[in-house]
Amino acid sequence: MPTQNSDVVVVGAGIAGLAHALAASKAGHSVTVVERDQRAVGASVRNFGLVWPIGQFVDGNAEDYDRGCRSKQVWTQVAADTGMWFSDHGALHLAYAPDELAVLDEFVASTPEAAADGARMLTPAEIEQLSPWVKTAGLLGGMHSSTEVNVDPRVAIPTVARWLEQKHGVSFLWGTAVLGIELPRIQTSRGVINAERVIICSGNEFQQLYPEAFEATAIRRCKLQMMRTQAQPEGWNLGPALCAGLTLLHYDSFKALSSLPALRERLDAELPFHRANGIHVLVSQTAGGQITIGDSHHYDLTQDPFETQDVFDAILDYFDTFVSVPRREIAETWHGIYPSLPDGKRYLLSEPEPGVSIVNGLGGAGMTMSFGLAQDHLAGNLAVTTPHGELAAAPSH
Ligand SMILES: Cc1cc2nc3c(=O)[nH]c(=O)nc-3n(C[C@H](O)[C@H](O)[C@H](O)COP(=O)(O)OP(=O)(O)OC[C@H]3O[C@@H](n4cnc5c(N)ncnc54)[C@H](O)[C@@H]3O)c2cc1C
Repeated sequence: MPTQNSDVVVVGAGIAGLAHALAASKAGHSVTVVERDQRAVGASVRNFGLVWPIGQFVDGNAEDYDRGCRSKQVWTQVAADTGMWFSDHGALHLAYAPDELAVLDEFVASTPEAAADGARMLTPAEIEQLSPWVKTAGLLGGMHSSTEVNVDPRVAIPTVARWLEQKHGVSFLWGTAVLGIELPRIQTSRGVINAERVIICSGNEFQQLYPEAFEATAIRRCKLQMMRTQAQPEGWNLGPALCAGLTLLHYDSFKALSSLPALRERLDAELPFHRANGIHVLVSQTAGGQITIGDSHHYDLTQDPFETQDVFDAILDYFDTFVSVPRREIAETWHGIYPSLPDGKRYLLSEPEPGVSIVNGLGGAGMTMSFGLAQDHLAGNLAVTTPHGELAAAPSH
C-alpha cells in the first residue's frame, strides 16, 4: 500500500468507529477508517440492533437519553437514504406482578423527558392491540415508549459503512490492522498512513494500542449469549421490541427508583439462576423476519469461548413467560463480548497524546449511544477520562 494521507484516521469499523467517521467527515475532514478484519465481526454485528434511549437515564439525568435520541435520528436518516430494514415501533416493558407495575409507574411519573416523548402506561387491552405476540395471562399492564428503534445489526453495520463511503466520501481500509501510532505516522499491517488526528475505537482490543490508558479504569469484558429463531411466516412483524420485569433490574434508568429494591428482592429469590447469570430478556426482529432473543451477562477480563446450554434454556424459559410467536425453534446461537467499565461509568474518552483519542467502554449501549457520543466528542463537549479512570467535568462551551 503506498503511503496515504488523511486528516483523520479512525481505528475500527464497529459502530463507534463508524459514528466517529461520520462526525469527522461532517466536520469537514477527510477520513479513513482502518479495520483489522475483512468486515466488522465484533460486538456491533452480534447485538439486538436495538437503539434504546429509554434505558439511558442516569439518576434521572437525561444527557445520555438525549445522546440516544440523537443517534436514533441518524439511524432514521441512514434507513431513509439506503432503504435498509428498520423498525420504528418503540418498546414495550411488560408487567406481570404488582412490583413490576410499580417500577414502571414510578418511572413514567418521575421522568418528564420520557413522558414528553410519549412514554406512557398501558392497560393489558391496549398492549394486546399493540402487540398480539405478548402473552396476556397474568398481564397487569406495561409501558410503551416510542423512542426505541430496531435495526438488523448484520445488515445495518455494512450498510452504514457503504453509506459513509458513498454519501460522505469516507475511505475504508479493510483487513488492515493499526500496529502503532507516532503522529503524523500511523503504522498499519499494510503500510503507513499520515494523519493529523487518530480516533481509536477498537472495542474489545484494548490491550494493544495505548494499554496504559485503560489500566486505571478497571475495564473488563462482558460476555453475552444470544439466539435467533427461524424466520417467522412471510409478512410477520414483531412491532414494538419486548421486555419484562428482569429488564427493570438491568438498565440505569430504573436504578434510583424507590420501588426497585422490592422487585430486586423478589426476583433474586424467585429466579436465582437468572440473576446469577445476569439474564434479562430482550426480544427484537431481524431483516429476515427472525426474532433475536437474549441475553446473559458474565464479566471477566478474559472470557472463555464456550456457551452454556443452561443459560440458553433459562433465557428461553423467561421468554416463554411473556412472548408467543408462530415459530419458536432456535436456528442460531452465538455469543458477543463487549468491554464494560465498572461503577456505572458509561464510556471512556482518553487522550493519551495530542491528536490521539480513544473512545471505548460503551458497554451494552453502543448502538444506542455512538452517533450522539461521536457528535459530542467532535464538538469538544465530552468529558475526558482522567489517568485515574474517572471522568473529568464535561467542558462547558
Ligand atoms: C450480544 C450483544 C448485544 C448487544 N445489544 C445491544 C443493543 O441492542 N443495543 C445497543 O445499543 N448496544 C448493544 N450492545 C452493545 C454494542 O454492540 C456495543 O456497545 C458496540 O457494538 C461497541 O462498538 P465498538 O465499535 O466499540 O466495538 P466493535 O464492534 O467490537 O468494533 C471494534 C472494531 O475495532 C477493530 N479493531 C480493533 N483493534 C484494531 C486495530 N488495531 N486495527 C484495526 N482495527 C482494529 C475490530 O476488528 C472491530 O471490528 C450489545 C452487545 C452485545 C455483545
